[in-house]
Amino acid sequence: MLTIKNLHASVDGKEILRGIDLTVNPGEIHAIMGPNGAGKSTLSNVLAGRDGYEITQGEVIYKGENLLDLEPEERAQRGVFLAFQYPVEIPGVSNVYLLKAALNAVRKYQGLEEVDAMDFLTLVREKMKLVKMNEEFLHRNVNEGFSGGEKKRNEILQMAVLEPALAILDETDSGLDIDALRTVSEGVNALRAEDRSIVMITHYQRLLDHIVPDFVHVLSEGRIVKSGDKELAKELEKSGYSWIHDAPEGET
Ligand code: ADP
Ligand code: MG
Ligand code: MG
Repeated sequence: MLTIKNLHASVDGKEILRGIDLTVNPGEIHAIMGPNGAGKSTLSNVLAGRDGYEITQGEVIYKGENLLDLEPEERAQRGVFLAFQYPVEIPGVSNVYLLKAALNAVRKYQGLEEVDAMDFLTLVREKMKLVKMNEEFLHRNVNEGFSGGEKKRNEILQMAVLEPALAILDETDSGLDIDALRTVSEGVNALRAEDRSIVMITHYQRLLDHIVPDFVHVLSEGRIVKSGDKELAKELEKSGYSWIHDAPEGET
């Protein structure tokens, strides 16, 4: 599904990612954890194709294509979903309009017709139950006046409607109270599938109590310094990230 090889990326001439290697197979959930400033958001931004990052070395292969050569919209059409794709308020664009446009872009790439308006509403209503959102939400402008929790639910709704092959969720748990965390987690868990991969980027372990990953990686200073299974996340909860700096060079 996704292979990242020796990825290096800089911002303003400063190297932030310093040789990331990661392989994600279909059906797997990978958690990427790490201290603040480790480069977690930089990694997700680079995968999303955001402006401002210079890739200096390495490659990212998604389903046999070089992801880094594709425009952000092309990535989305091919089934890559980034939860923070629309993080900002977009005045005058309703949530339902954006969702439909995004779905139609994917369908177009797949050679399918635009979704019928009534079928779309039926689909969205069904998916909204998953994240316990009410209908009023659909007609609000994108993210305008959404609380932190609502934005996150909305991201999971987008994911549920688009049914991506690869979802990259950055700090899905931030700003969530415990009920919203549970709802969002249930939404993500409902979207687990054999042909779908999820990369969850998070500073905190608590999300992983609800969404159990197959693999956990620790990112520090732009490199993955340790990989393991869910037990690694538990270890981190106990010992924090301070041990990272004490680890001998090259230990993984
Ligand atoms: P994380 O998400 O793990 O907390 P980030 O990827 O946001 O880390 O940041 C990694 C490092 O890159 C930090 O030192 C941060 O200050 C720096 N950085 C990120 N974005 C920029 C930017 N646009 N300009 C300058 N430095 C940046
Ligand atoms: Mg940060
Ligand atoms: Mg971050």
